[in-house]
Amino acid sequence: FVYNLARSHQLRGEVINHSSGVDIIVEGQSQSLQHFHRELSTQAPPLAVITTMEIKDIAPQGFETFSIRPSNRSDPAQTLISPDIALCPDCLRELFDPGDRRFHYPFINCTNCGPRYTIIESIPYDRPYTAMRHFTMCPQCQAEYDDPANRRFHAQPNACPECGPRIWLVKSNGDGIPVEDLIARSADLLHDGKILALKGLGGFHLAVDACDEAAVARLRERKHREAKPLAVMFPDIDTARQYVTILPPEAEMLMGPRSPIMLCKVSGPASVVPSIATGYARLGVMLPYTPLHHLLLREFGRPLVMTSANLSEEPICIDNDEALSRLQSVADYFLLHNRHIYTRSDDAVYLYTAGAPRPIRRGRGFAPQPIFLQTESPSILAVGGEFKNTICLTRETQAFVSQHLGDMENLETFDFFKETINHLQKTLEIKPTLIVHDRHPDYLSTRWAKEQKHLPRLAVPHHHAHLAACMAEHKLTRPVIGIILDGTGLGKDDNIWGGEILTGDYGEIQRFAHLENMLLPGGDAAIKAPWRIALAYLAQSFNDECPRLPFLDNREMITILDMIRTRTNSPLTSSMGRLFDAVSAMAGGPCCIRYEGEAAIALTQACDDLSVPPFTMGIRRSGRERILCVQPLIRDIAQAIQEGADFTNISNRFHRTLVDWLNRAVQMAHRETGLDSVVLSGGVFQNEILLENLLSAIAKQGLKVYAHEQVPTNDGGLALGQAAIGQHYLKTIHQQQE
Ligand code: ZN
Ligand code: ZN
Ligand code: FE
Repeated sequence: FVYNLARSHQLRGEVINHSSGVDIIVEGQSQSLQHFHRELSTQAPPLAVITTMEIKDIAPQGFETFSIRPSNRSDPAQTLISPDIALCPDCLRELFDPGDRRFHYPFINCTNCGPRYTIIESIPYDRPYTAMRHFTMCPQCQAEYDDPANRRFHAQPNACPECGPRIWLVKSNGDGIPVEDLIARSADLLHDGKILALKGLGGFHLAVDACDEAAVARLRERKHREAKPLAVMFPDIDTARQYVTILPPEAEMLMGPRSPIMLCKVSGPASVVPSIATGYARLGVMLPYTPLHHLLLREFGRPLVMTSANLSEEPICIDNDEALSRLQSVADYFLLHNRHIYTRSDDAVYLYTAGAPRPIRRGRGFAPQPIFLQTESPSILAVGGEFKNTICLTRETQAFVSQHLGDMENLETFDFFKETINHLQKTLEIKPTLIVHDRHPDYLSTRWAKEQKHLPRLAVPHHHAHLAACMAEHKLTRPVIGIILDGTGLGKDDNIWGGEILTGDYGEIQRFAHLENMLLPGGDAAIKAPWRIALAYLAQSFNDECPRLPFLDNREMITILDMIRTRTNSPLTSSMGRLFDAVSAMAGGPCCIRYEGEAAIALTQACDDLSVPPFTMGIRRSGRERILCVQPLIRDIAQAIQEGADFTNISNRFHRTLVDWLNRAVQMAHRETGLDSVVLSGGVFQNEILLENLLSAIAKQGLKVYAHEQVPTNDGGLALGQAAIGQHYLKTIHQQQE
């Protein structure tokens, strides 16, 4: 890009890549130099990020041409690895140009697009170290690759039908289907309601017709995914607009180089089958991002359900043989190719809300691009938590947060976790000097960290990491007030936290206020049955005269009541996630759930009006802490239900209460501590009603308030916070040694 830009302005000089950036020396007419300077930022390729630019005048060197000087390999490593990038407009045009030599070629790419992170086996990022090493470029491709003026100059995955990878189609028993037009045949199979496993960029997808109820039902049954929403890929944005509303910033994300799944509001004349996202106001929308997707979707002409090919919560499949064996009972047909995937990477998921696109899941298109931190330190490995895990490696000011790895409870995810740590350490040439992990001793990530005997370790309380994650991505350095709301995390007092107002910074936290501790009968096991949580919260709030709300009809209550009375196997929790579960089940929401958060999500989906009176918002003092009193709230809600309030009414009033209550507690913290910056973090802030209204309520009081925009607010963001805390720790130790 620099070479071409300099040449286009008739400038002479050279460009050199080195460890701390790019040096450009240019000589020429001053007006050309000005244009060059401006266009360096404005015309930069889609994924180029200029973090800082310094300009110096030097004595003329008398260059005769502009050239690219080879970089010095003895420099300390500063490699960055590009994420995988969606097909660019130029390649898209060629893909459908009958006169182009890559017409309908499913692996067309250029320097502005195509696979990167997922095909790199080791460094340097050169073809022999990628999945492309098995394909020798034909003379035409090689000529493009060698020509600095060509769009495919040094495009490592460059290929064409003569020399590059190819696709083929097989039945689930592995038998090939010998047809001429594989894309047309695949589309026919989908029209017939078949389930197609499709090899993509970061792994396999399972695809079915999004307008075929029976096909979607079959996919759910075979994948053991009963009710959790599925994402849908539309042929193009105009088709998508017939199903959902797409705001300009959502369109920009969908059509941009990263091309994540966007959760868009459902509306419009057309609809996909309801079982794709039952009860949701939003649908996970994606657009084709590989040439193969474009070919298939254009041929098929309608939306396709596209979901990661795996069983329930296992990692996504990447290998042909692995897919055929693991998915044999799920997919009817497999559309395979022979470009190997080295690194699994699921699609990223984003929600545009409260004025910004916010990640729900980090993945393809984003990992492993660094997040820039305020300070630097020796390298750190942060291993995250247990659920929705990611890991983070730091190098100077860069924090490399991995793609979504998944829930660590199954062996496959744990393997993926270890693979990713090794792979990122190797390809980014990072040797960590400290491992940071969650304080919970039973998390698999914690156990793994403890086995790494050669490195010092730092254990970090779960909610401290959430607070630090939000501070780090906004480069905050002064202490803040943090509203940290989530489902589960081990607190400093060994109780389960999750409804916290903290004050502090990377160094330490104080607990300013929290939701009243409630007994949770059965601990984590209760999460699958919100009615038990609701009963437990009612029993504690009413002592003996627990009101017989409709959700208790025909329930076996004795065991739960006994557990509460005798405090058996009932840990204390201040979790906001559990409060949502309890209120949802009490008010008529799901009593047993089929996926994480289902009851809480149902309650939020019912909310349509916040101009309602709140329930009781008690705040009392207990030692140095404030308690947000849950029991009077539960009594209030029970009474409203007995008086006939419906699910929507309870939901509206509950959300109103939380916004006012938390805002009030934050103002108290502000008055007492003088702190005037507030960070919001934790999985509960995926709740857009709470997020939006709390952000504006706090801002209205004149405080600065921040929520996540670079890492997920859920536990997918923990690793970043752990890393930032680790940096602070190393610095403090260093100072003490001095
Ligand atoms: Zn391209
Ligand atoms: Zn070729
Ligand atoms: Fe959490």
